[in-house]
Amino acid sequence: MKIAVLGGGFTGLTAAYYLQKKGHLVTVFEKETVLGGLAAGFRVINWDWYLERTYHHIFTSDSDILSFVEEVGFDRFIFKEPVTASYYRIIPERFPHLPAGRQAFPVDTPQDFLRLPILSWPVKFRAGAILAFLKLSPFLSVYERQTAQDFLTKTMGKEGWEILWQGLFRKKFGKYAENILAAFIWARIKKRTKTLGYAEGGFQTLINYLEKKNTSLGIDIRKGSGVDKIIKSSKFKIQSSNKTETFDVIISTLPTPVITKIGEDVLPSGYVKRLNQIKFLHAVTLILETEKPILEKTYWLNVTDEKIPMMAIVQHTNFMDKKHYGNHHLTYVGWYVDNNSPLLKMDKEEVVNFVKPHLRKIFNFHPPAGGPILNSFLFKAPWAQPIFDKTFLKSKPNFITPVKNFYIANLDMTYPYDRGTNYAVKLGKEVSRFL
Ligand SMILES: Cc1cc2nc3c(=O)[nH]c(=O)nc-3n(C[C@H](O)[C@H](O)[C@H](O)COP(=O)(O)OP(=O)(O)OC[C@H]3O[C@@H](n4cnc5c(N)ncnc54)[C@H](O)[C@@H]3O)c2cc1C
Repeated sequence: MKIAVLGGGFTGLTAAYYLQKKGHLVTVFEKETVLGGLAAGFRVINWDWYLERTYHHIFTSDSDILSFVEEVGFDRFIFKEPVTASYYRIIPERFPHLPAGRQAFPVDTPQDFLRLPILSWPVKFRAGAILAFLKLSPFLSVYERQTAQDFLTKTMGKEGWEILWQGLFRKKFGKYAENILAAFIWARIKKRTKTLGYAEGGFQTLINYLEKKNTSLGIDIRKGSGVDKIIKSSKFKIQSSNKTETFDVIISTLPTPVITKIGEDVLPSGYVKRLNQIKFLHAVTLILETEKPILEKTYWLNVTDEKIPMMAIVQHTNFMDKKHYGNHHLTYVGWYVDNNSPLLKMDKEEVVNFVKPHLRKIFNFHPPAGGPILNSFLFKAPWAQPIFDKTFLKSKPNFITPVKNFYIANLDMTYPYDRGTNYAVKLGKEVSRFL
């Protein structure tokens, strides 16, 4: 069959690989001039390795991507145990035993939780027990019947929710923080591992490898070819780059708001309406290139303090060696934002100026301070974070759509797991089984 795969991210490239191997004739349409979608990377002249536009790593439990890379012959994943920490505001009324201000504490292991001075002993024990329970528990339908806030407040107490989780949820999900289902926290705890993996050369090296592999199998990969419209005839007509072509099957890996728009002539209006109920946030990342490290040892710093408007500071070069990046340090500052966020309208210089005073506050606790910013890069990824709330359960897409031979495999379908390259590979493989 003649199959059009829409989108050249991990899902599209994996689906194309398995479909072509089954003997189908596959064309991949990718809007951007590089493949990789949300996991795509870039490289400047004095770097040997690519860097993702948005911070990326995998867990050792990400078995789908690990077995896929083995199958295709890319055996270059590096595993390390970088430091992750959370940055809290110390409120004197709540923590009279600690100096007021802000402090970062490691949150890698159960022992770290037991040592967290911002938790009382009863909360430490409850938190430890619940985290261990979630790690061992299979998925239970009860996780879909309550929000994470309700579940965590019930199990860890109000103090546990407010100190440990509320800040994290608000930074990740903004105004939707209190509506996120408990299923999300189950999946997060279940899959998280202390050891993290990274593709040697950057994830873009793996994407380039897959591009070569797919091309050698005969897959037609069209970069810079966004799909503008899908028209239903006896088969599917795809309009891209002012050309129209006919296909027997469509597999869309595009974000839901994109496919419901370009496919609105083909997909029933009730179905489009249902899918469009899903809410999303957009991801914004600023990358700072500095001579000195911004964070001394920490790779990942969650910023739970609501007065500091950023979700995380991720110093990639505390995970991978700076020698791959011209001996400079590379640090991400990241946000998830909704449509109204001023960040979406700001240019790079404006975002740098917005961030600087906040970084200075954190520097007080994290010398050395990174020194001057040598270079910066700004990326905005629309529709990057679906909101797993009660509406989501009624609206989420499935592989099969109401239209015969029109399939969807996109990042909304990783639920209850947060989107990730592991699940993109899994979805790509699974959708190929329908054909
Ligand atoms: C901030 C952030 C951090 C992340 N961190 C991690 C991490 O640490 N580890 C991890 O494993 N995963 C991480 N992810 C998730 C991971 O990047 C994604 O889950 C994965 O890349 C999704 O792949 P995909 O192919 O399903 O979708 P996408 O990568 O979104 O691919 C869809 C493709 O469709 C293309 N497209 C859009 N419109 C059109 C059109 N009209 N016509 C043709 N093409 C079109 C896009 O350009 C894109 O290439 C992160 C994501 C974000 C946003």
